[in-house]
Amino acid sequence: MHDQNHVHGGELQFVDCHGSALTATNESTAQAGGGARRQVIVAGKRVKTIDVHCHCVIPKALEVMGKNLADERGPGLGEVGARRLREMDEQGIDVEAISINPSWYKLERDKAAEVVKINNETLTELCAAHPDRFVGFASLSLQFPDLAVQQLEHAIKKLGMRGIAIGGSVAGEEFSGAKFHPVWAKAEELGILIFIHPQSTPELNNRFKGNGWLANTIGNPLDTTIALSHLIFEGTLDKFPGLKVCSAHGGGFLPSYAPRSDNCLRVAPEMDTGVKLKKRPTEYLRDMYFDTLVFTDEALRHLAAEVGVERLVIGTDHPIPWQAESIDHVLKCPHFTDAQKRMMLGETAGKLLGISPDF
Ligand SMILES: [Zn+2]
Repeated sequence: MHDQNHVHGGELQFVDCHGSALTATNESTAQAGGGARRQVIVAGKRVKTIDVHCHCVIPKALEVMGKNLADERGPGLGEVGARRLREMDEQGIDVEAISINPSWYKLERDKAAEVVKINNETLTELCAAHPDRFVGFASLSLQFPDLAVQQLEHAIKKLGMRGIAIGGSVAGEEFSGAKFHPVWAKAEELGILIFIHPQSTPELNNRFKGNGWLANTIGNPLDTTIALSHLIFEGTLDKFPGLKVCSAHGGGFLPSYAPRSDNCLRVAPEMDTGVKLKKRPTEYLRDMYFDTLVFTDEALRHLAAEVGVERLVIGTDHPIPWQAESIDHVLKCPHFTDAQKRMMLGETAGKLLGISPDF
């Protein structure tokens, strides 16, 4: 599509620590409503940039839950179209893998099924209108694992969705639990990506009161930290070694303080419940994927050191304005080679989501 109405201009250029010129150019496209679409080029080669962490809601599904779009945070959250494309073009995001945060885990079966059906069918339609710019993660009624297995299979095989988006727990239950194993078995069989997005840690709401939006600021990364720790320590990742798990916000706090997990049962052997892990806890981090939404060069360097740079993919949180410069964060980061930047910007996510690197 970018071959139409080719107009180059607004060239930005800067040089990374390896001395290679990184050039980002703008071009206009008809499909994006006439706005400038920034091309991201690393060492002379265009990269198809892919954002795995971005949100939308489906107003019709909100209605079923008695909610209203106006109460949802994020400008343009209810839209998958021209506005979103314009904002992607400005930043240089070629493809969004869109997810819907699960707020239906406490609903009874029929209503949860209805919400998930509306979400998956509508998101599929919206993505199909711009198939080179949007792909969708499926919603699941995870509180009913048998239903979730059917929804998963339908979403991937019939609707062509590219993965599933789940929360950090299922209405207070850890999804490392045995009742959820059939869902992970199906996800492993289908080889799809599981995107984990936290939903605060509601059990701590009382302590999150006060200044600083702590329910989100630290509640979200903590929720992910707890979820991933259970997946590791309960042996879920040993049982399903083919699972492709990608966590939002750089995996929360876990990669920041990972080695503590390798020492806990040495310090307190009586806390070992008998689960025999095949590897040291920190080694499981290198089997998972994480987004790059960690803000600073040093945080990104440390995350890559703990999990492996080949495990990192772009996450913007769009349209929630946490990070408006996710592309530049990677492009300008002094700690990575051009090849590593290309992996983070889109090559790794493309392989996980079945998106061709070609334009
Ligand atoms: Zn998010």
